[in-house]
Amino acid sequence: MNLSQTRSFDAIIIGAGAAGLMCAIEAGKRGLRVAVLDHNTIAGAKILISGGGRCNFTNIGTTPNNFISDNSHFARSALSRYTPQDFLALVAKHKIAWHEKTLGQLFCDGSAKQIVKMLLDECAAVGVQIILNCKISDASKADEFRVETSQGAMLTKNVVLATGGLSIPKMGASGFALDLAKKFGLNVVAPKPGLVPLKAAADELEFYTALSGVALPAIAQCGKTKFAESVLFTHRGLSGPAILQISSYLKHQDEIELDFAPARDLVTELKRRRHERPKVEQKTLLGEFVPQRLADSLAAETSLEKIATRLKSWRFKPAETEGYAKAEVMVGGVDTNDLSSKTMEAKHANGLYVIGEAVDVTGWLGGYNFQWAWASGVAAGQGLAQAN
Ligand SMILES: Cc1cc2nc3c(=O)[nH]c(=O)nc-3n(C[C@H](O)[C@H](O)[C@H](O)COP(=O)(O)OP(=O)(O)OC[C@H]3O[C@@H](n4cnc5c(N)ncnc54)[C@H](O)[C@@H]3O)c2cc1C
Repeated sequence: MNLSQTRSFDAIIIGAGAAGLMCAIEAGKRGLRVAVLDHNTIAGAKILISGGGRCNFTNIGTTPNNFISDNSHFARSALSRYTPQDFLALVAKHKIAWHEKTLGQLFCDGSAKQIVKMLLDECAAVGVQIILNCKISDASKADEFRVETSQGAMLTKNVVLATGGLSIPKMGASGFALDLAKKFGLNVVAPKPGLVPLKAAADELEFYTALSGVALPAIAQCGKTKFAESVLFTHRGLSGPAILQISSYLKHQDEIELDFAPARDLVTELKRRRHERPKVEQKTLLGEFVPQRLADSLAAETSLEKIATRLKSWRFKPAETEGYAKAEVMVGGVDTNDLSSKTMEAKHANGLYVIGEAVDVTGWLGGYNFQWAWASGVAAGQGLAQAN
């Protein structure tokens, strides 16, 4: 190989997603020669499908407590140095209109395409090269890193792994970051699907399938963790925000407890209504508290008290999750013990950085995952070593 034909950069960022593009902007602002490589034919594919096409790009209530990680303190530094307000300032600079939907979740009024365009425009303004349709076969290090790609070998002082998690493989998700991190001696916290619908056990499937489409507010709890949002019955089991949230915390064999009448003393209230209207059918009374289809499916079963007790402490033991095909995120990833929380650089592999979802930091549903992608991207972009 003729080295004069080998392209050389101060930093090569692998993955043109949320974290990678943000890192490139920040590094570009510092005058670094930056290339972003992606095997996809478009940049920011996951941003485009996020938030139902409107991209829930941050959550104004973001705190480190909204993230799951083996080291709950790791995200604190990056999150405090790049906040939702900082991202909002960028959004305002690009005149992107937004609204708060619920629980601090901010969405574009128009389309997620605006967020991708904003990131690409910012990259262009600081001279970042974005190289798409670029397959990466390997990266090795001697004095510098050498990245082998379908568009030739490239040399660089810094490599940033920004290839995200394993969810939605049909969109090009890959374990590249995890594999390369392992190759450079970093530990990986075993990954699993998160923010994912759950499947009912075979003997309960018929019951859940019959209720498919029923949604109601609930508190979903596993151990000490609980979420008060809505639950949706599906033809495979349960979904809806409360289930997606709790799914990220589940360990094998865990059972979820659901309260389908939050903040109500259902037994007492049902008894009182039956006393006031003794001729009214059980299912009609129940239907005043939960959707009628759920009331109908329970009413024939047993006494009103027992049904009320069941609705207050409903047990659901998932057979399994719906897997990476349906998961919004990956839980686990490159071990934070092996990374600097300030710069995201590997502690024992100089010049190697890991950002975004590939790191063992997973946000709740509601814009937190993008906030982590932006914040970790900025931290690395500011921390990248200058080439000599
Ligand atoms: C359906 C869906 C909706 C979502 N909605 C939201 C939301 O509204 N709000 C929110 O906060 N989070 C949301 N998320 C999660 C959010 O999209 C991710 O957490 C975030 O995109 C992670 O950013 P990232 O840069 O680490 O990875 P990504 O954005 O996934 O980017 C990774 C990039 O790396 C590229 N890549 C992967 N493997 C390779 C390889 N081997 N070689 C070269 N390139 C590679 C990919 O093509 C991709 O461009 C959603 C996720 C899904 C699946």
